[in-house]
Amino acid sequence: MQRRQAGSERQIAGLAGHYNRHMATAPEAPAATRSKYEPVIGLEVHVQLLTATKIFCGCSTHFGDPPNTNVCPVCLGLPGPLPVLNRRAVEFAVLAATALNCKVNETSIFARKNYFYADLPKGYQISQYDKPLAEHGCVEIKTANAPKRIGITRVHLEEDAGKSLHDGLPDSSEWTSIDLNRSGVPLIEIVSEPDISSPDEAYEYLTRLKEIILYTGVSDCNMEEGSLRCDANVSIRPRGQTTFGTKTEVKNVNSFRFIRQALEYEIERHEQVIESGGTIAQETRLYDAAEGKTYGMRSKEQAHDYRYFPEPDLLPLVVDEKWRQEIISTLPELPEARRARMISQYGITEYDATTLTSTRSLADQFEEAAAAAKNPKRVANLVQSELLGRLKAKGLAIEQSPISMKGVAMSANLVESGAISGKILKDLYDLAFERGEDFPTIYEKEKPQQITDTSAIEKIIDEVIAANPKQLEQYRGGKKTVAAFFVGQVMKASKGQANPALVNELLAKKLEA
Ligand SMILES: [Zn+2]
Repeated sequence: MQRRQAGSERQIAGLAGHYNRHMATAPEAPAATRSKYEPVIGLEVHVQLLTATKIFCGCSTHFGDPPNTNVCPVCLGLPGPLPVLNRRAVEFAVLAATALNCKVNETSIFARKNYFYADLPKGYQISQYDKPLAEHGCVEIKTANAPKRIGITRVHLEEDAGKSLHDGLPDSSEWTSIDLNRSGVPLIEIVSEPDISSPDEAYEYLTRLKEIILYTGVSDCNMEEGSLRCDANVSIRPRGQTTFGTKTEVKNVNSFRFIRQALEYEIERHEQVIESGGTIAQETRLYDAAEGKTYGMRSKEQAHDYRYFPEPDLLPLVVDEKWRQEIISTLPELPEARRARMISQYGITEYDATTLTSTRSLADQFEEAAAAAKNPKRVANLVQSELLGRLKAKGLAIEQSPISMKGVAMSANLVESGAISGKILKDLYDLAFERGEDFPTIYEKEKPQQITDTSAIEKIIDEVIAANPKQLEQYRGGKKTVAAFFVGQVMKASKGQANPALVNELLAKKLEA
């Protein structure tokens, strides 16, 4: 008992710590200044596309291979070879851009973005500049008050750079090593309008964006492996002012939670600097998650000129109407539309629908189960109340669930027919998770003893009928739906153990007698 209490106290303290962390580490801003300024946030999200090969050569994009094994003269930046555009990368980019409500330009132009960095052997990155693949999109997010549209300025195609390895190698204390396996992996960059006005909105935007991209299947959006990366631009201005304040950029933060924290820190820092009469320097900053602080990395004042010019080795990219239609015909139903349909089709709540569509796989599985169940709403409830909680406790994804959606549908039907009680269902789910077996298997082994003795069931029916004369009168007066009430009472009286088929059969006879 003592231990348990200590444990729950720790948990509460831990939660409080989570919320207090930014307050404790961010510069202190007097409460009065907080409402005086309005944050302005724009996000640049880089997403690696799930093509098998790189964007301008045939090298594998496979993550985690030994360093510098998936390379060739093109992605090593050796002089001479020419880039050849990967058709699949274009198709994936068009799918993503369309899912983000962008207009896909028929002609877009690749451009060289010139800068010098050790992980960029050519001395320039092939990107798109003034004629990007797609523009003018939006993502709808939920805010406390109402839905809000966050504009998407552009979605363009580009190549990834290599990766500097600062640690993990035997001589890391002396050298930085370069792995060029990532050089030339196809990316889309998704640039938002500066429409985001709080760290929470930024978090919500990123969550919705990732959900949409995952539905399209063009990326795995795995932040740990760097297939989704986010840079945030943030400034503040006095409320009501229309011109922007000086912005800072926070780069390469590796989780949405940390981006929210980094933005909270930056906004308070800006407020404090301005309130104390200082000016914000335009610069790139790095977020240290352990400390909860950002640090200046390099000044952006001189670094802005990338001397973009059209890439002479690549033709303009033309996505004509026929090809575009072909590509977007493979676009699946997107999360927002799917939620709306599922709410009306299955009679579930918006909350249910939001949980059940959080991944395409979960939504597919739910719909499969709902189709096999008598009452889809009950399936939705079971998934949320019994399945997701147990999965979370075990740290499992839905794909790793011992109970399949078929199993959930079967269990829902058993409760629906009264064959098992809710309590028995919980016990069977616990067993399924304990043994790692699916529900049908567990049910076959452990199903409650059923009463199949006709005379025993008849006895219960007689008692139930005798105890409910008013309902009997209604039934005999023509209100046949009351039969369900009697079935329920008989199942309850038998503690869920009477054979439901027999109950139905015998009850019908008795009621008509
Ligand atoms: Zn290559």
